[in-house]
Amino acid sequence: MDQLTFLAVHAHPDDEASSTGGLYRVLANEGVRTVLVCCTNGECGDGPDGSKPDADHHDGDEVAAIRAVELDEAVKVLGISRLVRLGYRDSGMKGWPQNSDPESFWATPVDVAAKKLAAVLAEERPQVIMTYNEYGFYGHPDHIQAHLITLAAIKLIDYEPTLYFNAIPNSVMARFRERWEQEARERAEEDAAKGIVREPEVPNEEDSVPMGTPDDEIDAAIDVSEVADAKFDALAAHHSQIADSFWMKMGREQFKQVMRTEWFVRVTNPRQLEGCVDDIFAGYR
Ligand SMILES: [Zn+2]
Repeated sequence: MDQLTFLAVHAHPDDEASSTGGLYRVLANEGVRTVLVCCTNGECGDGPDGSKPDADHHDGDEVAAIRAVELDEAVKVLGISRLVRLGYRDSGMKGWPQNSDPESFWATPVDVAAKKLAAVLAEERPQVIMTYNEYGFYGHPDHIQAHLITLAAIKLIDYEPTLYFNAIPNSVMARFRERWEQEARERAEEDAAKGIVREPEVPNEEDSVPMGTPDDEIDAAIDVSEVADAKFDALAAHHSQIADSFWMKMGREQFKQVMRTEWFVRVTNPRQLEGCVDDIFAGYR
């Protein structure tokens, strides 16, 4: 039988851990070849002192260098066979000045980046490919661009892989929202106790994208409970970015209870699968 190969196209260092960390480790344990294509260097991440990219002393190149080392560590933890860095500059969130940096991923013509990705696909011939939906899951320009170049690259290769987008079922998203709102309330109470008054965050409805997927539209639900430790460690490897995240605040034990599944929606279906599968290589083994 042909070597099974999985390839995910991610936007930034740390996305591989948050949306596919469990899947990568499960597949590595099964002897599947796994490839990670990371499109940007993550220059718009937090600086070592927690500074945001609009701070005067924020140094994107320094941030990228730190994140490169963190990504190497996460790749080791997840047993990823090959890491390909496309090397584009992080475009930042929608409307940020970095969007128009000619070296940014967002400013790069889709066909140019798609050709680079197609060369990797032609070499690796992954049966299964994963990236984000047309909203880039949550609207980030680099995630949208990862979606666009993946669709374009698939048109350039001589076979049809099974393509999945990552997803979170609405029922789970509702539980996460409760948790975020709870955290926000706790932060506000802590601030109030210190006498700090903050304007409540008003979500920008115009920019909001549907992050959840109706539960019955989920096509793959992968049990990652056995590798939840590795997923936690891979996320923790990105400590310059997520030391403060809700995953890390959960702590390892609660994380292992909560983060037991990764979900995907099938976009191309050359093996004519039906219903929700529990194996991302269903139809190939
Ligand atoms: Zn990202």
